[in-house]
Amino acid sequence: MEVYLTCPSCGAQYPEDEVAWRCRCGCYLDLDFAPRFDPASLEGPECFLRYRSVLPLTFPKKALTFGESFTPLHPMVFYGVPVQAKMDFLLTTGSFKDRGAFLMINKCREMGITRIVEDSSGNSACAMAAYSALAGIEAHIFMPAGNSSAKTVQVRTYGATLHKVPGTRSDCARAAEEAAKNSYYAAHTWNPYFLHGTKTVIYEIMEQSHWQAPDVIIVPVGSGSQFLGIWLGLQEMKRAGVISRYPRLVAVQSEHCAPLKNFMEGQQTPQLPKEPILAEGIAIRQPPRLRQILQAINETGGETVTVTDRQIVDALKASARQGVYIEPTSAAAVAAVEQLKDRLQKEERVVVSLTGHGLKATSRVEKIPDNI
Ligand SMILES: [Zn+2]
Repeated sequence: MEVYLTCPSCGAQYPEDEVAWRCRCGCYLDLDFAPRFDPASLEGPECFLRYRSVLPLTFPKKALTFGESFTPLHPMVFYGVPVQAKMDFLLTTGSFKDRGAFLMINKCREMGITRIVEDSSGNSACAMAAYSALAGIEAHIFMPAGNSSAKTVQVRTYGATLHKVPGTRSDCARAAEEAAKNSYYAAHTWNPYFLHGTKTVIYEIMEQSHWQAPDVIIVPVGSGSQFLGIWLGLQEMKRAGVISRYPRLVAVQSEHCAPLKNFMEGQQTPQLPKEPILAEGIAIRQPPRLRQILQAINETGGETVTVTDRQIVDALKASARQGVYIEPTSAAAVAAVEQLKDRLQKEERVVVSLTGHGLKATSRVEKIPDNI
């Protein structure tokens, strides 16, 4: 079956082997790939490849993995609300981005690509560098200068070439796009394969829930790569008749960078502060797929929630006091529970996505004043 990359804005189509990362009209591209999911057909161990029937890989049996297993769906209580925490920070590189990198890098292997360029605020760079190391692919990672040192060290140690770009996240993206003229631009913010990888998280959540959809799923949102992966998987499962209604998808952003809220209010997103913000993983002023994120919110009856640094710190501590050490970006999703709690029905099942490991943000966490 020939798969095309298609533009939802102007309708243009690109064959897979053209390796286009963006439409000529400037819009992101989606994959013209609508698998028919059947839970009865699942076989094999609890790993990414268990869902190979819905993954856009030509040779899934040849795919390289770290033998990743399901991440726990762990019961916790935040602000008096019982939730299930999806502990994706336990994946190999310490964040959910492994799911996208797994798919993306294996797709590169299938297409014979030996050199990739990625720009990232941290976690996706780590994931791309690790899976590139696994696959023997040369990875060039563009990262804003001033990012968490732990992530920078992690990327370099995997053997990727690190290019630190002064200025904003957009300056970094521009530098990567320039470099990508000679390499494959594996930008997780644009790339639809990445989303088909991140969607494995919702298949896992559903299987761990005996195919009963939760009522609410709360996700920190920067470029929306997990949020949109969840949306993609939910649509596939609805098409297959596995679910009859969508959980409400809640997109959480920091008060310092809230383009979803700004867009809804008809405002521009202000420039970011010079200093790196606490929830650095979701500090993306202009997510390429912003309209798609808003569509997912609308179609699921979800919402966007904006949280303050103080709420993030409280949430981070509330999680750690239950033995779960997450990075501030993940704590943003926990913080949203407090804002939502009065509107949740008692019997509703809430899933909170814990996206990144606390050990990645030690330098940031240790600077949090005790009195904040
Ligand atoms: Zn287009």
